[in-house]
Amino acid sequence: MPSFHSNDQSQPNSQSFYESTCKMTNMSRQTVIKIGVDALIEAGSDLICKVCIMNGGSCCNGCRHLADGIGCKERNTSCTAWLCGFLKYLLYATGLLKEWDHFWSQVPGQDYREDFTPEYFFVEKPLQMKSFRNLSEALAADLQELESRHIAIGFIITLREKIDKNIDRLDQCKNDPKRRIKIERNIKVLSSPFHRFQNELREYHHQLKNSHT
Ligand code: SF4
Ligand code: SF4
Repeated sequence: MPSFHSNDQSQPNSQSFYESTCKMTNMSRQTVIKIGVDALIEAGSDLICKVCIMNGGSCCNGCRHLADGIGCKERNTSCTAWLCGFLKYLLYATGLLKEWDHFWSQVPGQDYREDFTPEYFFVEKPLQMKSFRNLSEALAADLQELESRHIAIGFIITLREKIDKNIDRLDQCKNDPKRRIKIERNIKVLSSPFHRFQNELREYHHQLKNSHT
């Protein structure tokens, strides 16, 4: 399992004290952004974004940091950590959503389309993700097909928002198993048209299980 945790070498000396006592790592804001971006590329987020943007769903729409033909001019920790419904579902289905959330909960100063993250701060837990671009490729193909099949413009964007809400609700009812089952069922129904993705996902979990035996 690749570990997306790079020790920042350009650090003040206080690092060794914290590492030896608390297993904490002093990390720079730029490093944490790189860790996030690299992890998303490994996960194949760009493939899903391509379909989403083509269908008018870009989450960067109207942002003052967005430059024509260049993209984001002001990469920040907040936008790197933030997941839309599609990416949230990708990490939920692969069992990596908690890992992602936990990692970013250690990064201070996140805001809307900007951050107040200090240049250096401490993190305790590295980000451990996996590479599954084949899953994203399958999901992107499913989304494109769904959008072409439905007359309603922006069908997949509405779907994205529904999935997003349901996954967020799961987090709000950790101690209510009945409600959790209901929400998990909703997510299953909403994601049932992702046929290619579900096939790849079965294979992914199968391989994961075999690697643990
Ligand atoms: S909403 Fe999600 S899929 Fe669409 S462009 Fe933003 S991150 Fe990518
Ligand atoms: S700041 Fe965030 S919303 Fe704005 S262009 Fe950059 S990534 Fe997109």
